[in-house]
Amino acid sequence: MKRISLSFDNGPTPGVTEQVLATLRRHDVKATFFVVGSNLRDPRAAALLDAIAADGHWIGTHTLTHSVALGESDEPGYVEREIGEPQTMIGAHSHVEKLFRPYGNLGILGPHLFSEHAVDYLLAHKQTSVLWNSVPHDWDDPANWVDRLLADVDAQDWTVAVLHDIEGAAVLRLHELLTRLKAQHVEITQAFPDAVIATRAGAPVSLNDAYVMGRA
Ligand SMILES: [Zn+2]
Repeated sequence: MKRISLSFDNGPTPGVTEQVLATLRRHDVKATFFVVGSNLRDPRAAALLDAIAADGHWIGTHTLTHSVALGESDEPGYVEREIGEPQTMIGAHSHVEKLFRPYGNLGILGPHLFSEHAVDYLLAHKQTSVLWNSVPHDWDDPANWVDRLLADVDAQDWTVAVLHDIEGAAVLRLHELLTRLKAQHVEITQAFPDAVIATRAGAPVSLNDAYVMGRA
């Protein structure tokens, strides 16, 4: 049986995240929300953390500013700020394994994802770094992203999809996606395969040298 894990990045977005939650609830599906720390400065967005958690979804972080990838910054304190601050901001809403998704810049997997210092930080702070193997482009290709994602599901045993709870993205066709996944008997799971976990519990898991600046 094919499997898929759904994640929603770049929120919470007032007016959008609520709709994503309602659709997931309707299909009895659990997902993970990787929130951008700076969004939480809006109290309406911060309040959505309660709603996400109340529905049984997992909450992880997706950097503070979602601007410069960790591997592309040598600014002192950047890693501590981009990983540490959002983790503090989500507080008790955090998944116990402290899930972190690096900023990929259009979902690209490459050496920009991590610096050596970022890897050291993630290991020292026992963060779970969650990568992905499907970026269907829900944010900029509304006509084709559902078919692209279903093709990824077909081509892989366990797809980890990056979707977005932002305006004009996955929310528009999420009901259709979940309906089609169900029709194709794809198991929707909240867990992640080790293949997309770069670090966990202070140890590397599938930490590819090609994803660390300067290693490959
Ligand atoms: Zn993102």
